[in-house]
Amino acid sequence: MSRRRLAIAVVAVVLLVAALGLGALAWQRWSPPRSRLILADSDLALTGVSRPWRWIVVHHSATVSDTVDAMDREHRNKRGWDGIGYHFVIGNGKGQPLGEIRATWRWLDQREGAHAGIADYNQAGIGICLVGDCERNAPPSQQIERLAWLCANLIRLQPGLLPRPAVRLPQPEDHLAAIIGHRDVPGKATKCPGVHCDLRALRCRVAELLAPPAVTSATPP
Ligand SMILES: [Zn+2]
Repeated sequence: MSRRRLAIAVVAVVLLVAALGLGALAWQRWSPPRSRLILADSDLALTGVSRPWRWIVVHHSATVSDTVDAMDREHRNKRGWDGIGYHFVIGNGKGQPLGEIRATWRWLDQREGAHAGIADYNQAGIGICLVGDCERNAPPSQQIERLAWLCANLIRLQPGLLPRPAVRLPQPEDHLAAIIGHRDVPGKATKCPGVHCDLRALRCRVAELLAPPAVTSATPP
């Protein structure tokens, strides 16, 4: 092979490698995020739980409408993260269907979150984002009901989310102190998930869902 041909071959290989590298980068940057629709507790169990989760941290998107894909793009492009920071997103009917739960790649891969702003709460906090601006408007009841369902099923999968049973607390919902809002993360100056997101009512509903069914009398009337 002549020197000229060798040089052309080397340049061609270098260009090919560069093109493949750029292509891979572009794919990573602009490809839609992996997410899974969660309809039943079996969908949730399928994902597996391998991290010692300690908190469920509730957020709102503070936008009127949103989707997993849009949040993923925003978190990559504007914040420089490796993708959407939450583990779950629940739709409000604007962008994502009302009450639809999507597990993001962070949950599917059991990766730490990028949502709390504090390392401990990112590493052991499951980030759930309600699409909507709960500082301005109350979230739709169907969205909150799906949030309560998701919390109850996450607690069933990961009993570490329940507090230590050593202290007897007066109300059942007090046992669900692991469900917090972003604003409850120590040191965070944020209103997230908004004044209209009633976390005490949420804990009460989760306690109801977790309660064993009432025992009915075996004696016929
Ligand atoms: Zn938040």
